[in-house]
Amino acid sequence: MALYLVVLFTFLSGSLFAAESFGGIRFHSSVLPEHKEFLKADLKFLYRLPVQKVSQDLFQITELSFITGPSLHYWLVERVKHIVGEGFQATNQTVKTSPYANFPATPLPLLRIKPVARAGAAPYVQALSVTIMSNMSATYYNFSKETKILRTFHLDGMAVPFTSTRAGVIKVGEGLFHKIRLINANPVAQVNMITRLMTLFHEARHSDGTGEHAGFYHDYCPPNHSYALNLACDKSGNGPYSVGAIVMKQLLKTCTTCTAAEKSKLEAKVADSLNRVLKVSDVAKVNQISTQIKRLQYIVTLYKTKKNAYYASEVTKLEKQITSLRTSLAKAQKSMTPPPANPRPEGVWKPRYLQDTQALMEKSLQK
Ligand SMILES: [Zn+2]
Repeated sequence: MALYLVVLFTFLSGSLFAAESFGGIRFHSSVLPEHKEFLKADLKFLYRLPVQKVSQDLFQITELSFITGPSLHYWLVERVKHIVGEGFQATNQTVKTSPYANFPATPLPLLRIKPVARAGAAPYVQALSVTIMSNMSATYYNFSKETKILRTFHLDGMAVPFTSTRAGVIKVGEGLFHKIRLINANPVAQVNMITRLMTLFHEARHSDGTGEHAGFYHDYCPPNHSYALNLACDKSGNGPYSVGAIVMKQLLKTCTTCTAAEKSKLEAKVADSLNRVLKVSDVAKVNQISTQIKRLQYIVTLYKTKKNAYYASEVTKLEKQITSLRTSLAKAQKSMTPPPANPRPEGVWKPRYLQDTQALMEKSLQK
């Protein structure tokens, strides 16, 4: 048992494996080899994606002027630059601190995740203990900005300073590859690659945002929601759940090997993700219906004073109309996608261009 633990520790600590760059992403030595191979397959699949019938939503949310496999890959690797494994721990050996005065004077997000869990320290919240995937950049950037002390990760000899959420460090955990999450038994079946890519695009969005939206943190879901009181909802219309769902819808169209059952599972994931984007009132419609209801209620009050059979039957008709208008009112009160938050990242980072990421991927594919 003791030997087993020692072996496991060495395994997870990543000392057995070397870093590898693939298609613009640097895989840290802590990423387990089989996980790395799955993620590389996902990136290849995305890059070679035959893109057709692109939705307006995808153009809007990615702000790309054309959508192709290479442009979607570019969008992703602009935000996901380093992948570390579950065994990677932020310790004195891997994180250095230094004074830094160049953080912007923008507000911090109201709810943010502290790098090291500290009980009862509102407004901080703790990340979930089971890792599927998490974006460490938003956490370390906002924490550095708040304390005015820059955190820099040392990833296999490379210094990665958190001067922006675009540092792009993502942690992948066992949860992402767990059998329970597989829709098809083959881990590199298209349906599974699409599911992992949806998660990657979701996490990539956490590398964006300004001020209180830096990192696009999730909000609490309302009490009547299926994820009630969990930090699993978005209050903006362009947050991680929207990005994940819109990208998944596009990938779903291209799945050549998905069975009908697999497609409906992917559709359910899209619906689940969109359900986490909290709808807001259609204000114009709410006002219009409310005015209509008030007008009919006034007529009903007037007719009730008449006390004869004709007016009584008119009152019944009007009351039916009012009931149906109330149903429409309830729908209008929760019918619109919330407005988008400012997706511009803040801080300092080195932007890449499509030709750079394309060249990096082509080079990786030749290996
Ligand atoms: Zn998220």
